[in-house]
This record gives sequence, C-alpha cells and structure tokens, in this order.
Amino acid sequence: MKKEEMLSNPSVTIAALKKYDFSFQKKFGQNFLIDEHVINKIISAAEICKDDTVLEIGPGMGNLTQHLAENAGKVYAVEIDRKLIPILSDTLSAYDNVEIIEGDILKTDVSGFAGNGNLKIVANLPYYITTPIIMNLLENHIPAKSITVMVQKEVAERMAAKPGGKDYGALSLAVQYYSEPYLAANVPPNCFIPRPAVGSAVIRMKIYDTPPVEVSDEKEMFRIIKASFGERRKTLQNGIKNFPELDYSKEEVSAALNEMGLDENIRGEKLGLQEFARLTDILRKNRDVV
Ligand code: SAM
Repeated sequence: MKKEEMLSNPSVTIAALKKYDFSFQKKFGQNFLIDEHVINKIISAAEICKDDTVLEIGPGMGNLTQHLAENAGKVYAVEIDRKLIPILSDTLSAYDNVEIIEGDILKTDVSGFAGNGNLKIVANLPYYITTPIIMNLLENHIPAKSITVMVQKEVAERMAAKPGGKDYGALSLAVQYYSEPYLAANVPPNCFIPRPAVGSAVIRMKIYDTPPVEVSDEKEMFRIIKASFGERRKTLQNGIKNFPELDYSKEEVSAALNEMGLDENIRGEKLGLQEFARLTDILRKNRDVV
C-alpha cells in the first residue's frame, strides 16, 4: 500500500471517518493513531519482522494494523466494536496476512494465536482497561515473546518504576516479575484522533522465560505485595495484618522482617522483588508450609 494512502496519514483517517460515517465510542477508549513516526517507533520497539505472528488488541479502523501487516508474517486483530469489523475488512483488503476477530480481548484465549512460537503482542490500548489487559496476559503466562503497547504515560512510568519512588507499586512488581520493561517513547495527545486528555507512552515488555527471582508460592507473593501497597501510609506489617486474603499476625511479619535484617516499621515501597520473594518464603517457612 502506498504511504500516502495509509490511515497513518491524518487526512486519510479523516476521510475514512466520513466515508464510513463512524462515530467514536468513548466507552471503548477509542483514540486512533494518526502519526506515522509514532507507528514506526512501535514497530521498531517491538522488533517486528516477517517471521513474527502479531496479535493486535483493538485495531480500531486499522491505522496501526496496516503497518503491522506490511512488516509481520501474520497479524491477528481482536476488536470489540462490531461496527468496526466491516470497516476493517475494507481498510485491510490489500493484505492477505491479516485475520480480524470480533471479540473482547479479556474473554479471548490468546494461546490460540501462538503459532510458530514467535508471537508478539502489539497495541494502542484502550486506556480504561490497560491494567486488566496487561495483568491478564502476564499472569496467564501467555506464550508471547513481548508485549509492546501504547498506554497512559503515568501507567508506563508505574510499570517501569524502581523501588523507593512515588510511581513504584504492585503494578511495577508484577510487570517486572514477568518481563523486562523498556520505555520506548513519549507520545503527545496530538498524535491521536480524538486527542486524549493525557500524555501517552510506548512501553515494551520482553517476557522472561523464567522470572528473575525464585519464590515458593507466586500467588502468595502477589497477595503480600498487594497488601503491602494497599494503603500507602501504612507500614508493611499493618498492611499485611489487615489484608483479608492473608492470615499473618503482626508478630509473624515483624519476625520475618527481623530475620531479613529489615526495620519492622518499613513500608512496602522500600522493598524490591527479591525482598518480597524472600519475605514470602520466610513467612511460609515459619508456618512450616514450605
Ligand atoms: N489500534 C487503533 C489505532 O491505534 O488507531 C485503535 C486504538 S484505540 C486506543 C483502542 C481500540 O481498542 C478501539 O478500537 C476499541 O474499540 C478497542 N477495544 C476496546 N476495548 C476492547 C476489548 N476489551 N477488546 C478488544 N478491543 C477493545
């Protein structure tokens, strides 16, 4: 397809919106990408090549999909808005390597797209469900090499944050347990139609074959992490003690922290992934469940 005919060209998108009489649905988080440089950044951050199978979440009208189809071997595109399905058949008609699937990504079995083992997930995500989508993909150990997504800038910063700062929390730890995040670009609102109210960023997560830390019970560690960041002003031991899904007393937590050589009034944001793994193992060992 000629560059000037692609939807990444703003005037082509504007003409297509008119042609298909399309109205944006706020409830689906629809902000279409109309900047070719940003699209190229996404493709290069994801390192897309002809050997790759790409799963695109929310193709919209096909603005990013057209470029993915040019660069990848195969593209599966899952779109929830049924009004966009016939539009996509038209805007992607030049490509025989794209399959459009109508559906909700949160209810789709992603493992079915894995193909030759070179699956990469790429998306300009709907911001209203960014975290559930990412967490669903990561926690289910999806067979993908990487996830490269456009998200709200603050969310990207939280995903890549290191211990100690204000952005660091349960999302940072979850993302960094399953993957190595890399902030590839900041993207201003004028690269989209309609313009979002917030700044955006492209983040690539390379999925680990094995997590960077070993822990005796992954699910228990994430419950402990969730409890530790539940209320920022609480100390870690109070957070854990009061967390309904856990059953450790304040004494048990302070004994474990002592064993780790940490202050018993420490807050969750001071602990790294390694320390949460150790805390989980010690709490379980002292209960004789390890
Ligand atoms: N990829 C297009 C682009 O960059 O121009 C559109 C991106 S727009 C931010 C997000 C897209 O995700 C919309 O097309 C929206 O309808 C779709 N979407 C929203 N929720 C979804 C869900 N649960 N499953 C699949 N697609 C969804």
